[in-house]
Amino acid sequence: MGGCLFCGIADGSIPARVIHADDLVVAFEDINPVAPLHVLVIPREHIATINDLTPEHEAVVGRLYLVAQRIARERGYDERGYRVVMNCNADAGQSVYHIHLHLLAGRHLSWPPG
Ligand code: AMP
Ligand code: ZN
Repeated sequence: MGGCLFCGIADGSIPARVIHADDLVVAFEDINPVAPLHVLVIPREHIATINDLTPEHEAVVGRLYLVAQRIARERGYDERGYRVVMNCNADAGQSVYHIHLHLLAGRHLSWPPG
């Protein structure tokens, strides 16, 4: 989708510190990390918010989680713990309207979130 930052990262036209790429998803380091590990996992397809998901997206949504799980394990956070979270719309603080799974690890993450 023209003008979308994360579509640009997915197609390589906008630089990012990419740590994983496959047929369905791309993972890269967040530019403004809020934890020692802060990775975003995005679908290659432009999907603006969780509200736009359909049953056809089941495979890609599953891949987002499996890639987050793999990165957490590879970085040694699987036993200690980590958080994956996806914000939807204004009240949740979504700022980029191309869905992205945040993978956060390396410090205690309080609950409930702010
Ligand atoms: P959200 O507020 O859930 O929409 O999260 C958007 C995230 O994208 C934030 O954590 C930003 O720091 C991150 N972000 C914005 N621009 C970039 C970029 N060019 N490269 C990597 N991460 C970015
Ligand atoms: Zn996009």
